[in-house]
Order: sequence, then structure tokens, then C-alpha cells
Amino acid sequence: MSSESRSVNPSHPAAQRLRIVLVGTQHPGNMGSAARAMKTMGLARLVLVAPERRPNEESYALAAGADDVLGDALICETLADAVADCRLVLGCTARSRRVQLEELLPRDAAARSVTEAAAGAEVALVFGRERTGLTNDELQLCHASVHIPANPDYSSLNLAAAVQVLSYELRLALLDASSGDAMDAAGERRDPPASHAEMEGFFAQLAQTLDAIDFHKGRAPESAMRKLRRLYLRAGLDAREVRILRGILADAQRMAMLAGSKR
Ligand code: SAH
Repeated sequence: MSSESRSVNPSHPAAQRLRIVLVGTQHPGNMGSAARAMKTMGLARLVLVAPERRPNEESYALAAGADDVLGDALICETLADAVADCRLVLGCTARSRRVQLEELLPRDAAARSVTEAAAGAEVALVFGRERTGLTNDELQLCHASVHIPANPDYSSLNLAAAVQVLSYELRLALLDASSGDAMDAAGERRDPPASHAEMEGFFAQLAQTLDAIDFHKGRAPESAMRKLRRLYLRAGLDAREVRILRGILADAQRMAMLAGSKR
């Protein structure tokens, strides 16, 4: 997909079911920076759980143009309140904990979040305090933890920077979901992916055509066919694309036959 079409594509409606939850934030500036990080990635739902201080002037200064996200932020007393309606809750941690939780990479966490949200579920990504992160009790409320695989000797990102990384991964997953829905890079509707049988039909015709145009010139055809199979399978063709390619092959076969009968 081209970068141009990525930027013009509207993000998936699932974005509205994704919330970023900041627990016990200590520096008001971080709430503003987090709001800005979210808005650049098309996310708008911020929840603040018992912040040490309410968003203030410094928060709004750092939110820059994202004061709407910050102004609309919900404030809750506890993490349990903030995620009560969520089917998936992921806790972001700067270090491994004793709590027995599956640990996800940001990319996998984002993919799972968008899949759930696209299926209609509410999803929360939870971030901890600057000094101490999330408590073990708070992590117990999460279905899995997410760790940004940072420098192991210095793995704790600034809170808003961690929100930025996860928001970016969510955006990529949302863009993937909206393009995967039915659009190709030019914004045209895509057919469903070609079936196994359609691909095999195409490969059989490709092999016949290569014979007919004497592509192999006495070499064994297997090696070229293996490489071509790999190439076309990697392309993830849809059914219509396979039909176009088979149309080209049919024309080539017809021309080869005409050339043969002239000889
Ligand atoms: N000193 C704290 C770090 C807090 S940083 C601790 O050791 O837990 C504030 C928050 O940013 C963390 O609670 C976490 O939600 C997020 N964060 C920072 N670095 C992260 C990383 N490498 N992976 C995932 N989340 C991270």
C-alpha cells in the first residue's frame, strides 16, 4: 500500500472502541503529551484514573492541538471503573512482573485490540505511573501485558512516549483493517483472496504457457515454476487479479498457437 493512500484512508470505525487509560499520572504535562500522541494517530478516547493532579495549564500547553482529546478525557476513581465495560484490557509495563500474564509485543497487542474492536468489543490499553508503573493488583485486572522491547538496560520510556508507540501500532493495525476490508492501494474495492483451487488453476495454465512459448529452452521447468509459484503466492492475489493474469496467458497461448501454425 502506498504511503499516500495510507494517509488519505479514513481509519477504521473500530478506533472509536479503543481507549487509552492512564493510571495515577503524576506529571500533568504527560497527560497533555499523551493526548497529543493519541490524536496524531487518530485516537480520541482518553481515560484518566485518579491522576495526582487534574489536567492544568501545563497539560494543555503540551497537548498543543489535542486539547479536545484532553478536554473530553473521562476521569475515574479506579482502574476497575475505567475498564468495567471492556472485553479486552492490556496493561503496558516497562519491566516483567511476577504477575502471571501473557506478555505481548506492541504489534501483536495492536492487532488483537483492533480485531476485538472491529468485532464490536470495547478495548483498553492501560499505562502506569511515571515512578512506579502499575501495581500488581492493577495488572491482575488486565488480560495480558504489553512490553515495548526497549534497551534491556534502560527500558522505561517516558509515559507519553510509550503511549505514542502503542498508538502508532494501533494506527497501523487500523489502517491494515480498513484496507483489508475491501480496498486496494488505489482505493478500489478488492475481491476476496483467490482460493487454493484458483491459484492452482493459474499455475497449471502458467506452466502450459511457458511450454508453449518455449520459455524453458530445454532446461527442466521445475526450478522456474517453483520461483514463480513463490512470487505469485507472495503477492496475495484476489480472484479478479487471477482472472486478469489468466486472460493474458490465454492470449499468449493463442499467439503461440498462431505462430506455430504459420511455421
Ligand atoms: N518506573 C516505572 C516505569 C513507569 S513509565 C516502572 O518501572 O514500572 C510509565 C508507564 O509507561 C509504564 O507504567 C508503562 O505503562 C509505560 N511504559 C514505559 N516503558 C514501557 C515499555 N518499555 N513497555 C511498555 N510500556 C512502557
